[in-house]
Amino acid sequence: MKLILLGAPGAGKGTVAKILTTLDGSIQISTGDILRGAVQAGTDLGKEAEGYMNRGDLVPDSLIMGIMENRLQEDDCKNGFLLDGFPRTIPQAEDLNELLAKLDIKLDMVVNIDVPRDVIFDRLCTRRTCQNPECQAIYNTKSNPTKVDGICDKCGSPAIQRADETEEAIAHRLDTYNKKTAPLAGFYEKEGLLKTITGTSSDLVVDGIKKELGM
Ligand code: ADP
Ligand code: ZN
Repeated sequence: MKLILLGAPGAGKGTVAKILTTLDGSIQISTGDILRGAVQAGTDLGKEAEGYMNRGDLVPDSLIMGIMENRLQEDDCKNGFLLDGFPRTIPQAEDLNELLAKLDIKLDMVVNIDVPRDVIFDRLCTRRTCQNPECQAIYNTKSNPTKVDGICDKCGSPAIQRADETEEAIAHRLDTYNKKTAPLAGFYEKEGLLKTITGTSSDLVVDGIKKELGM
C-alpha cells in the first residue's frame, strides 16, 4: 500500500504505520525518525535541523524535499510505503505531487487520523522514545511503560523524553500543526484521496484503513 498518514503529533501515526508494515511488506518512512537519526549522528543535515526541532518548529521544506526525493527512490519502497510526518506543509504536498508524477507512483489513500487535543497533549507529555537511532521504539509511562524504568525493552538503550516534548514545545508543535499541516486535509480532499478516521485506538484505526483498502 502507498499511503500518507496525516494527524497531529501524538495522533498515533507512527504506531499505526508500524502495524501496517506487518501486513504487506510496505515500509514506514518517518521524516521525524530520519531527522532524529541525523541529529544523533551529527551529520550536516542533523546540525541544520536540530535547532528547529528542539523548538518544535518545522525544518525548512527544501531540506525535507531533499531527503524524500532520495528516500522514495530506494529499492525498499517498491512494495509500498507509509509516509509518517510528511508532507507537513502545502508546499511539501505540492512538491510531493510533482515527485510522485516524475517517479510514476500513485497513492492509494491519505488517512487523516483525528484525535481530540486533550488526549494528544496528555499522550505527548507521557511519551518516551528509545534514543537508539536504529530502534526509536515508542513507550508511554501510563499506557505502555518500559519493563525497566528508562530502558528500551527491545534494545536496552535509554528510552527518554524527547527534547521537543516539554509542555512548552508540545504546545508550540500543536499550534504549528493547526496552522501549517491541518490545511493538508482540504488539499487531499480536493484530490479525492482523503479518508478521515476518528479514534484513539491505533488498532481500530488500522481496522478502518484495512476496510477502506478492501483487505
Ligand atoms: P511528531 O509528529 O511527534 O511531532 P515527528 O517525529 O514527526 O514528530 O517530527 C519531529 C520534528 O521533526 C518536527 O517537530 C519537525 O521539527 C521535524 N519534522 C519532521 N517531519 C517534518 C516535515 N515533513 N517538515 C518539516 N519538519 C519536519
Ligand atoms: Zn530501542
